[in-house]
Amino acid sequence: MGRRFRNHSGVMGMIAQIRPGLAVGFLLLVAACSQGPDPRNWASTGRSWDEQHFSPLGLINADTVDELGLTWFADLNTDRGQEATPLVVDGVLYNTEPWNITTAYNAATGEQLWRYDPQVPLRFGRLACCDIVTRGLGFHAGESGGKVIIGALDGRLIALDAASGEEVWSMQTTDPADRYTITGAPRVYGDRILIGNGGAEMGVRGYVSAYDANSGELLWRWYTVPGNPADGFENAAMEAAAETWSGTWWQSGGGGTVWDAISYDPELDLVYIGTGNGSPWARKFRSPEGGDNLYLASIVALDGATGEYRWHYQTTPGEEWDYTATQQMVLADIEIDGVTRQVIMQAPKNGFFYVLDRATGELISAETIAPINWASGIDMETGRPIENPEARYGTIPVMVSPGAGGAHNWNPMAYSPATGLVYVPVTETYMAYAAAESYQPGRGLGTAFAGHDDIRREIADYADANSKGWLSAWDPVTQSERWRVPYAQKGSGGVLATAGNLVFQGTIGTTFAAYRADNGEKVWEMPVQNVPIAAPITYMVDDEQYIAVNAGWGGGLAHVERSAYSNLHLGPPRLLVFKLGGSAQLPPMPEESFVVPELSPPPAPEADDETVARGEALYGENCAICHGNAARGGVKDLRHMSPATHAAFAEIVLGGSRAANGMASFADVLTDEESQDIHHYLIARANEDWGD
Ligand code: CA
Repeated sequence: MGRRFRNHSGVMGMIAQIRPGLAVGFLLLVAACSQGPDPRNWASTGRSWDEQHFSPLGLINADTVDELGLTWFADLNTDRGQEATPLVVDGVLYNTEPWNITTAYNAATGEQLWRYDPQVPLRFGRLACCDIVTRGLGFHAGESGGKVIIGALDGRLIALDAASGEEVWSMQTTDPADRYTITGAPRVYGDRILIGNGGAEMGVRGYVSAYDANSGELLWRWYTVPGNPADGFENAAMEAAAETWSGTWWQSGGGGTVWDAISYDPELDLVYIGTGNGSPWARKFRSPEGGDNLYLASIVALDGATGEYRWHYQTTPGEEWDYTATQQMVLADIEIDGVTRQVIMQAPKNGFFYVLDRATGELISAETIAPINWASGIDMETGRPIENPEARYGTIPVMVSPGAGGAHNWNPMAYSPATGLVYVPVTETYMAYAAAESYQPGRGLGTAFAGHDDIRREIADYADANSKGWLSAWDPVTQSERWRVPYAQKGSGGVLATAGNLVFQGTIGTTFAAYRADNGEKVWEMPVQNVPIAAPITYMVDDEQYIAVNAGWGGGLAHVERSAYSNLHLGPPRLLVFKLGGSAQLPPMPEESFVVPELSPPPAPEADDETVARGEALYGENCAICHGNAARGGVKDLRHMSPATHAAFAEIVLGGSRAANGMASFADVLTDEESQDIHHYLIARANEDWGD
């Protein structure tokens, strides 16, 4: 083996490429997939509605992968996080980028067929907590021709004619005056489109909506947290949920946004949604008497036709660490204790790997996939975490693990029915959590990102020394790790598993790599000048199999902790496409990416302590979410502003002069004086750390 049989086509051709042992398993898989989507296409973000991120294609396999090479690439428009999983339908690749710029290419040659820019108003850049990203598209194969479905950052759901890129319909799924954004991929299940939204850092109330793919008409909507009881509850689930909240939670939205994961079981006609964190983060400010605050940080099953509540499992009751359960949910039928179970699996931010019965919501098992300290396990009698009381923070910072980035975040994991393993990008993280002194609805997270800097520095040092990332092959039956690939630091990408006994992942070492799915042996790796944080896909055109991935560092990790990644030398963000025998070459790395930017010393501090303290508080409320805890790192490290940036500070913060980069104007919430106070605080911070 190890040769390509270019004349073979179709499934039998693929099987011919695989060693006998695998071929048997592969045949079974093809049989199992015969009811599923065409294996040549990748028409939904997880390929199939079960979100397995698994492909039955096996021409590229553990024996042939050494011949894998780049065959075409496309430069991407925006130098921000590229989190999108592309789609491929019948030889056309559809890609989408920050600001929802969407493109169609000939999937074999890379010829661009069309480009569509929905002209998202730049002010929405400020409302996206974790970069102006998009995680992908939906595809509707309707009778009147295919449609590409975009969930735009500004809350629009847009259907494009797949052939021409012309708009067919557009629906506003959110109140554009409110602080919602969409970053998740729309899911298309038959003629239904499911879409959620983000904004739990901004004081919104989460919900998911179903739209008719042909007309764009709203079919149903399900809120994840209760609104003001005085307005009446939408349904019995909201009434039940209200019992688990106290105070006037609706004034701060409550959160629970469905910003990424949705799965669907067509036989049960159940839609599964993963819900996000509380708004604000600190529970005492949204529900002063405590409580579980349903349905935050939960997996919720809804009736596909009506959106009615069926069951829920709350991963983090009374959530206050940004422990979203929005991470991808994989559906599979696996044998546990001799019985085939219909399961739903999730590794949410909180560090546990959950296996539930997807018909009933019964918890089957849960174990930690990384070292954590907020809980010591799950009480299987009650299904509740055994919490470490110290993790429930007051105003003095405490170190909690995982941090808000989570032990596993949006980067898709993959499940291989051939190996029975789930391949999870895992992160070990630590973060300082502290409650703010006070909170006003709509302003900040109710947590402090500055103050007690001695404690924060200690926690940051510990976090820097102990944070790491790895690819874990997790056995969901035994709830244990089968193998792992350790990385030099956290931040590696989403995962693809294939019937070729391969697992593909972009690495924080600016490479794209393939491992044997059964034992983790690295069988292929290529430098790609950037970090492919998105999930790879695979597809076939004619008789050739392709692998595609977006490579562009950014997103939440870069936002919050960019300084931890100052060793990364990054080339332009690109869509990369590989095939066996591919011989395309990337242009040489731009020279400037190797040059350490000349750092100018900060201006001398001239403000009094009171001004700096005011600036610190304002920074925490308005800036920290993107520019880092105590201004350490972030999307741009503000301790390292150039003299030109210092001079243009007000123009940037209030004038919106860098809105196209995602830094929209704050003139609606900050006065001139407040902007100056923040500037003084940053100058003070820069002087404190100058020389570090
Ligand atoms: Ca969040």
